[in-house]
Amino acid sequence: MTDAPTTTLPTTAFLGAGSMAGAILGGLLSPAVSVTGGVRVTSRTAEKAASFAGVPGVAAYATEAEADANRIAVRGAKLVVLAVKPYLVPEVLAEVAGDLEPDAVVVSVAAGVTIATMEAAVPASVAVIRTMPNTPAQVGRGVTGVSAGTRATEDDVALVRALFETVGAVVEVPESQLDALSTISGSGPAYVFLLVEELTKTALAKGFSPGQAKLLVEQTFLGASELLVSTGEDPAELRRRVTSPKGTTEKAIEVLQGADLSALFDRATDAALARARELA
Ligand code: NAD
Repeated sequence: MTDAPTTTLPTTAFLGAGSMAGAILGGLLSPAVSVTGGVRVTSRTAEKAASFAGVPGVAAYATEAEADANRIAVRGAKLVVLAVKPYLVPEVLAEVAGDLEPDAVVVSVAAGVTIATMEAAVPASVAVIRTMPNTPAQVGRGVTGVSAGTRATEDDVALVRALFETVGAVVEVPESQLDALSTISGSGPAYVFLLVEELTKTALAKGFSPGQAKLLVEQTFLGASELLVSTGEDPAELRRRVTSPKGTTEKAIEVLQGADLSALFDRATDAALARARELA
């Protein structure tokens, strides 16, 4: 027996069916969610569209097979998720502008494309909301930054929140903070993977087999994350509890802090922010 859906969303069209759209679709198509009127998905290739064959509630179209695919998909859709590469956003918006429902909400996941650019490309009655999800959305553990455009109502924002809450948590910020948010949570999974890579190398150098090193490092990250989130405790306090005075961990932490991690993370995220501004 499956539980009744806990979230109901209106007809939703995804323009673009790559990794990010796929991650969000994973949440949207779960039994916990009901999409009234169904989901439409477009991609460039017929092969990708065909991969949705038989998925209940999904109609998929390919632009290479049907030139009007995007226009067909947005007709009757309340939420229109722009999930193409950023450089394609102006082209795709120009294509569908005349077919958007007057009360549609255009939801962009495209990095660097501003709300002003998108609002200028669609009819004045259409709301725009810009977002920045991250890849753990693939496993329902994402965190998405959401910035409302000038025409978005509270109800529009609530719908977009509900959409992204199907794949994790949502943080609402002004658009001016979205690039900064991206340097924390958008790029953040890469910082964590880098730490995993480095600690794994260290474990191998200490004589553990690849399988043992993988298990030791992955379970340590998973366990520490769950401990942090499930207890809600301050990470500094949790760290103190692993760090007995004059003990072994204290020695390791002294070395790590000697590298001035705060300055390193400031420099890394500042570099990411500067690059986001160059790309905008
Ligand atoms: P991707 O290349 O995996 O997917 C792009 C999709 O767009 C493909 O399915 C392609 O067939 C389709 N497409 C191309 N031209 C099209 C057209 N004219 N009409 C309809 N569909 C078309 O890219 P991705 O990694 O999923 O990125 C998509 C967006 O998500 C980007 O704007 C990116 O900035 C944003 N984003 C990605 C991530 C990430 O980690 N992947 C994180 C945050 C935001």
